[in-house]
Amino acid sequence: MSSTANRRYSASAAVQFARIDEYVDPIVEAIATHDMTIEKRGAVHHIRSPFGKATFEARQGGFKLTVEAADPGGINRLKHALVGPICFIAAREKLDIRWEGDHTAPTLPEDLRLLHVRSIEDITSRFRRITFKGENLERYDRDDQLHCRLIFQPRGIATPHWPMLDHLGHVVWPRNSAVPTRVYTIRRIDTGRQEITIDFALHAHAGPATQWAMDARAGDLVGILGPAANGPKPAKFHVLAGDETALPGIARILESLSRDATGHAFVEVDGKADELPLECPSGVTVHWLHRNGATAGTTTLLPDAVRSVLWPKNRGEAFFWGGCEHKAFSAIYRHLRKEIELSKERFVLYSHWHRSLSEEQIIATGAEAYLPQ
Ligand SMILES: Cc1cc2nc3c(=O)[nH]c(=O)nc-3n(C[C@H](O)[C@H](O)[C@H](O)COP(=O)(O)OP(=O)(O)OC[C@H]3O[C@@H](n4cnc5c(N)ncnc54)[C@H](O)[C@@H]3O)c2cc1C
Repeated sequence: MSSTANRRYSASAAVQFARIDEYVDPIVEAIATHDMTIEKRGAVHHIRSPFGKATFEARQGGFKLTVEAADPGGINRLKHALVGPICFIAAREKLDIRWEGDHTAPTLPEDLRLLHVRSIEDITSRFRRITFKGENLERYDRDDQLHCRLIFQPRGIATPHWPMLDHLGHVVWPRNSAVPTRVYTIRRIDTGRQEITIDFALHAHAGPATQWAMDARAGDLVGILGPAANGPKPAKFHVLAGDETALPGIARILESLSRDATGHAFVEVDGKADELPLECPSGVTVHWLHRNGATAGTTTLLPDAVRSVLWPKNRGEAFFWGGCEHKAFSAIYRHLRKEIELSKERFVLYSHWHRSLSEEQIIATGAEAYLPQ
């Protein structure tokens, strides 16, 4: 092998940050959801990803990061996989992370794929299913990583804008001109047909993603990044809970459960007309929770329903998966941890949206808008 083939790219950053102890656990959890495996040895978290390897070490008065990858794109991607979650979770600290070592010019994320709208179907009056056609989509075909980030391009744009990752691990946009991006769940992927299906909940305060879905036409272009975020783990007893934004994930998980699985799925929607047929094992009961005209994100339907569950004595046999508005998310999270005493390995629960914040505002606010209160 030539010496160029053996070339490795590496860099490190040492950051002064007095309050690091308050953030270590959520930072490590946030890094882990982005398709990274983390093992703690001594004080050092060793991180592996498809793009290379990294470390995160909290020290007195700060933390140290290292990254190592086989190519320039990989090193920028790894820096981003660390800097993104750290700067998001600790947004209020306004951290300035400076790297030493190999520097490479901004690169397109390796996981970026281009998708074109193939078909649009209104599966209810408030749910729009869009099937996209792409190429080279195999990396998105994962049962343990269900989510993705979509990048919405204006129709007919001559030169689409794609985010680049720079040597600081930050996202930079061509000509400083960003287009909107949002997180969605891959409802279905068919690598044979090279298709990805996303179900968009058409909510009442349409931001750019919902507006895009409402206006979509065959041929429209989006980018996709990911996959990310954990899916379900094997269990005898499953509890799934969420509003419309989690329904695509719940539907996908129910279809994948073993035939002898037992448990409950709780889905909050406005009313009967919003219910969808769900394919699931006979031992799992689906409960539709109706808001009956109440504003989304204002009810306690989901936390109340989760509180009604009779859990197996051996909590290790159970698994919870869910997503919803931040307030209900916080209540469910506290219940699972404090009252049910589910270990963190036995549940996956995300705050999918915030009633008074758009996604850009959530990112700018950081932990307070995203972690359980
Ligand atoms: C891991 C994950 C997976 C997700 N999967 C899906 C999915 O498969 N399908 C899906 O439809 N959504 C999904 N979401 C939720 C989706 O990303 C948000 O709802 C997103 O804010 C929609 O973007 P927007 O541009 O329409 O609104 P934003 O510009 O982000 O927000 C504008 C306004 O709308 C409000 N708002 C945002 N979402 C909702 C909502 N659902 N109901 C009522 N008001 C809302 C906000 O509070 C804000 O006031 C997921 C989110 C996460 C984090």
